Amino acid sequence: MKAIRSEIAKDLVRLKAELKEVESEMDDLIAASGVGAGDDQADAGTKTFEREHEMSLVYNARDMVLQTERALERIDTKTYGRCEDCGNAIGKARLQVFPRATLCMVCKQKEERR
Ligand SMILES: [Zn+2]
Repeated sequence: MKAIRSEIAKDLVRLKAELKEVESEMDDLIAASGVGAGDDQADAGTKTFEREHEMSLVYNARDMVLQTERALERIDTKTYGRCEDCGNAIGKARLQVFPRATLCMVCKQKEERR
C-alpha cells in the first residue's frame, strides 16, 4: 500500500505540472485572441478550434488531478480499494490497471451506460 501511495503521489506532482502547462498555454491563447482583431474568418475559426482543443486539455488535466488527489485521500482514510458506489472491493487486478479507480467494474459499467 505504501508503494502504491508513493506512486500515486509522484503521479500527482507530474499531473499538477502538466495542468500548469496547459493552463498557461490556454492563457497565451486567450491573450493572443484579443490581439488578432483584424484576422479573416478562416483564421478566427482556427483560433476558436485551438482554443476549444486547449480547453478540453485543461479540463482533462484538472480531472486527472482531482481523481488522483481523491485516490490519495482514500488511501489515507483507508477507503482505498472500496467501490464508492456499492462498497465492495474494487479488486486488485483492476486497481493494478487503474490505480485511481473509485468504482468497481460493475458500477463503472453502470455509470458509463448512464
Ligand atoms: Zn461497485
